[in-house]
Amino acid sequence: MNDAPLAVRSASLSDVGRRRSSNQDFCGEFERRDGSWLLVCCDGMGGHQGGETASRLAVETIAEVVLAEERFEPEMLLEQALQEAHQRIQRQAREEPALRGMGTTVVAMLYAGGAEAWVAHVGDARLYRIRGGRAEQLTQDHSIVAEQLRRGLITSAQASQMPHNELSRALGASAVLEVDVARHEAEDGDRFVLCSDGLWNLVNERELAEAVLQGDPEQAVQALVARANERGGTDNVTVQVLQVGHSAPLPPLEEDVTESSPEDVVALARLREGAGTSSIREPGRTAGTLDRLPRSGGSDIDRPSVRQRRVRSAAVASIVVALLLLVLLWLGTQLKALDEVDPSRAPVSAPAGSSGGLQEPP
Ligand code: CA
Repeated sequence: MNDAPLAVRSASLSDVGRRRSSNQDFCGEFERRDGSWLLVCCDGMGGHQGGETASRLAVETIAEVVLAEERFEPEMLLEQALQEAHQRIQRQAREEPALRGMGTTVVAMLYAGGAEAWVAHVGDARLYRIRGGRAEQLTQDHSIVAEQLRRGLITSAQASQMPHNELSRALGASAVLEVDVARHEAEDGDRFVLCSDGLWNLVNERELAEAVLQGDPEQAVQALVARANERGGTDNVTVQVLQVGHSAPLPPLEEDVTESSPEDVVALARLREGAGTSSIREPGRTAGTLDRLPRSGGSDIDRPSVRQRRVRSAAVASIVVALLLLVLLWLGTQLKALDEVDPSRAPVSAPAGSSGGLQEPP
């Protein structure tokens, strides 16, 4: 493992979407005392109240367990945290009849700035890694369709036609909980994306990578939520982006730097230097902060940049001026031609004294 820890930047956004009346997703970002990071993304189920309670309880419990332990033993910590969340959800569901049947999916990532990241998940909330311009799904869904696909019982074409929302595992849902915990490589420049199915059902891997590489994590989560809402926003949408590295490149933003506000330039400069943890959040979702994004029409990714738009207007103006000059030139030659032919215009002139027609000067 490299001894110098890699810098981390992150952002999270959860949105109710366009069709639902409540947001049953919940997410949080947390920093441990040893400087390691925990991101948790949950998608609750079991009615409005049940879903909201289960996802929030899971995020809070996982954070509590992971932050309370001083030793950094990622696999053990994550397993223990998810099991504790599972039990608390079940306990609360037993105590409050209105919450009976509640549960949640979860994906939780722990990262200490080194060459490895750990992830635990249950259900169909996902973790992706963006590297080399491509998104790679690092978690395998615990859904009926995904399980059948893995066992070779259905083809991927058949799977794409089937509903994806039936889960085979969820926190709070069964007596015994099986948690998947895995370790993944992390390199300078990698971006990790945690999300609920409200995002990945509507935004494909290519679009995901494109949005994440388009800007910093804050811009990426906003662009992705906006994209899901443009596609109908049929479900709650939650996305978290964690960017790793001192020199994470931002090529698409390069040409707009000169036209950004001074604050943007400072933010970009800080990002290039990898000035460490610039985004430490209170636990919980940040729904509602999307209002400053366009709610309809093209997302940030589709809109031409300021520079592109200026180049375009300049080109149009030059063409108009050139056409104007051509017209003036043509008019000039026509007038000159008229002057030259004037003495021989007899055929169009009428005899003197007659009415109508052109009169020759006396
Ligand atoms: Ca969902």
